[in-house]
Amino acid sequence: MVVKKKLYEGKAKIIYKSSRPNTLIQYFKDDATAFNNKKKDIIPGKGVINNFISELLMSKLSELNIQTHLIERLNMREQLVHELDIIPIEVVIRNIATGSLVKRLGINEGKVLSRPLLEFYLKNDSLNDPIISEEHILAFDWASSNELEEIISVSLRVNDFLLGYFLSQEIRLIDFKLEFGRYWNNGEQIIMLGDEISPDNCRLWDVQTNKKLDKDRFRHDLGDIDKAYKEVAFRLGVLSEQEFKKALKDEV
Ligand code: C5P
Repeated sequence: MVVKKKLYEGKAKIIYKSSRPNTLIQYFKDDATAFNNKKKDIIPGKGVINNFISELLMSKLSELNIQTHLIERLNMREQLVHELDIIPIEVVIRNIATGSLVKRLGINEGKVLSRPLLEFYLKNDSLNDPIISEEHILAFDWASSNELEEIISVSLRVNDFLLGYFLSQEIRLIDFKLEFGRYWNNGEQIIMLGDEISPDNCRLWDVQTNKKLDKDRFRHDLGDIDKAYKEVAFRLGVLSEQEFKKALKDEV
């Protein structure tokens, strides 16, 4: 058995060295964490579901000429991705007010925003990922103004696409988080979308019932988190119940 070299272990993923230059292997774990690691659990099969959902959504974005780090899904839990120089910012795009936005500004839960709201947070667990402004990003050189312009424009395009794509499956995209990095292609620098797009970092509500189909079920003890994630995967048509069961059985 070939033992892969672990480069980094995060809350929901592990990054391994790959034998191909300038690429990495992204492994999706079943660990669920919330409130900066204060709440933890294992959701069997979550990593498999997120791997498939993220593959689908990133592939669709590539078809729209949005550069993403995904090269290919390797197996049930792993993707081959481009190695990026990660920009230390989390971009949150909101269409409907909920979560930290309603707490911070006293906005009514569920308010439909008149335009998508982009927020930036510093990727820093020890500081609890504080909210920052564009001015902070530029003043501390976390990204250049050109890079920031590109990040904003890509984030809005991703939102436009995802809103429509989820809606076609009767799912409302409430908000989500993106991460970006720098990639060099023949001396030219490209801003690429990294990380994942899955129910771990999107809020997804059923159009008819407003049932939450995302990590809020774990955050707020709503139960059936595995069923909700599977529901998203099945609606998007990426994984059938049989394939999912087989994947988990093959791992034992
Ligand atoms: O908690 P908050 O309302 O700020 O979250 C906004 C969106 O960003 C949610 O979809 C949440 O899942 C996502 N998020 C994330 N990782 C974080 C913070 C927020 O994926 N560290």
